[in-house]
Amino acid sequence: ATARPVLQVANVHKHYGSKIAVADISFEVAAGEIVGLLGPNGAGKTTTINMVLGVLEASRGQILIDGHDVMRQRRRALSATNFAAVYAPLPGNLTVEQNLRIFGLIYGVRPLQMRIDGLLQQFDLLAYRDTRCGVLSSGEQTRVCLAKALLNQPRLLLLDEPTASLDPATARDIRLQIQRIAREQGGGILWTSHNMTEVEDVCDRVLILSQGRVLLQGDPRTLASEHGAASLEDLFV
Ligand code: ATP
Repeated sequence: ATARPVLQVANVHKHYGSKIAVADISFEVAAGEIVGLLGPNGAGKTTTINMVLGVLEASRGQILIDGHDVMRQRRRALSATNFAAVYAPLPGNLTVEQNLRIFGLIYGVRPLQMRIDGLLQQFDLLAYRDTRCGVLSSGEQTRVCLAKALLNQPRLLLLDEPTASLDPATARDIRLQIQRIAREQGGGILWTSHNMTEVEDVCDRVLILSQGRVLLQGDPRTLASEHGAASLEDLFV
């Protein structure tokens, strides 16, 4: 039997008054799979991610995280997910360890100190344990965001442009970490990026959104040639 997908998005719509941001989107993310959500500005990526997070309610359709309806079984669904946005700033006056501790307490993570120590080590953050997050570089902050996102061992990890502000070497390091997370923790990862080289490198599958619809989906390494295009960007409408 195939395992239940960690994310199921079925016929989801979102409109703001007469403005249609997302129109009948359906897709799934399987355990261990890294799926890229691509598309030009305004295509509906952030709206989709916010609906998966339960921050925005879909106008129509259903979203299940690890089988739990994001709206009707909110607590269960949200305890199965986590979110690491580069743009979501960490409380800057708290130290790295305090930041992890607060989120660990919110999620009821146990044994908390052991998990924190393990994650600090995994993300090469032991030396920054007592450093205030506000003074960290973007790369260091991204590593703290990822460590925080993994505290409750989420089944689904949502990453909104995790490498956008990073130098190439740090971005590469973060990509390797993310691939390792997918391989070793068995959850699914949905991420957005505007960097197509990175997408081809990391994603098992991509969805290209355009004007709120799934225009194309498939293997990022073959999708362009299958559709007679020179590169993934050329598929963007
Ligand atoms: P980007 O790459 O720029 O982040 P995106 O793919 O994430 O773009 P969304 O932010 O999801 O795009 O926006 C999709 C569409 O919905 C856009 O046309 C946007 O103007 C519109 N939209 C988003 N939020 C609202 C809102 N609160 N009220 C009205 N329209 C909105």
